[in-house]
Amino acid sequence: MFFYNFHPSLEIKILNINKVTALLLFAATTKGVAENKVGISKAAFEKEIDGKLTSLWTLTNKNGLEMTVTNYGGKIVSLLVPDKNGILIDVVTGYKSIDDYLKSGEVYFGAAIGRYGNRIANGTFTLDGVEYKLAQNNGPNNLHGGPKGFHAVVWDAKQIDEQTLELTYFSKDMEEGFPGNLTAKMVYSLTDNDEFKIEYFAETDKKTVCNLTNHSYFNLSGEGSETITDHLMQINADNYIPTNDVAIPLGQIEPVEGTPMDFRKPMAVGARIGDGFQALIFGNGYDHTFVINKEEKTVAYTATVISPNTGIKMDVYTDQPGVQLYTGNFMNGTEIGKSGKAYLHRAGLCLETQRFPDSPNQLQFPSVVLSPGETYRHTTVHKYSVE
Ligand code: BGC
Repeated sequence: MFFYNFHPSLEIKILNINKVTALLLFAATTKGVAENKVGISKAAFEKEIDGKLTSLWTLTNKNGLEMTVTNYGGKIVSLLVPDKNGILIDVVTGYKSIDDYLKSGEVYFGAAIGRYGNRIANGTFTLDGVEYKLAQNNGPNNLHGGPKGFHAVVWDAKQIDEQTLELTYFSKDMEEGFPGNLTAKMVYSLTDNDEFKIEYFAETDKKTVCNLTNHSYFNLSGEGSETITDHLMQINADNYIPTNDVAIPLGQIEPVEGTPMDFRKPMAVGARIGDGFQALIFGNGYDHTFVINKEEKTVAYTATVISPNTGIKMDVYTDQPGVQLYTGNFMNGTEIGKSGKAYLHRAGLCLETQRFPDSPNQLQFPSVVLSPGETYRHTTVHKYSVE
């Protein structure tokens, strides 16, 4: 976990960081050329992958919040937000170099997910009478667009200003098995209201399916802290989507009332995670889509997460119909993060705003079909404050 006392003069007090990084940072700051406060070097992200160059971009806002992003998979590498004492805390998991991302066993940290986030049953769907076969990269299912989904490709990046980064990616017809040339764009911004906002857009030249999201793993006690089970969670959902043993929706939506899925009032993530409830047994914890109480297409309040240690609070808003709560159930301590700490079981949680899983095969769910002439749109806001 990185801790910094933010000071406008760019003087940085490092409370908990390894000596080499501290020295490098000290050298950089005394010359006035610190690349970012988190101390992650841009050079460590420069590489050529699939004929395209990768790098690291830094966004800051007027309150000193800072986010770093690589165009490899559109991944959020770090996100510094102040805790209740004004100390900047890095609240997302990640690595300190592109090579670490490439060799990691967890390919989704901070990543853009597409062309279809979540699962498609048996890696198969039919559109206009044509059957499409996708990679079966998660048991029998397709997960997060396949092995070379949008998390594993190089996006074109353009920094618009200090607070805004635009990422675009051209996904060819039949890439990972999906029909249609799809142009995807994401605008990441760090607003002066202490919000990290993502706006997604996509267009196609042939009917396709599209479901984009972001897969940041948050730990509001600081990345590398032991667990998120103590975080207080509230989700604005009266219903959730039950799934089978391979996480495919059973077809209906069900009330959270009277179940451990009921986060309508704040509850610690771990309070009922061990209840012998079927959905939690199948998911090995929370790994489910909650149906947000909202009007279609409006950006609405979705969820709140609070760390009791740092007091950091994250409010999530989205215009998507669902949010997948995933509580890092498959994290097991083998991944060593950017500050040298092992990411233990449930050391991060994801709130992936999205359309419903397996919608290409479950036509009772809102349509995920994108046709030529239409624009896919998705806005998600993460607002930071302290409590
Ligand atoms: C899925 C989990 C999966 C994880 C991978 C989540 O979106 O719902 O089942 O293990 O992604 O990091």
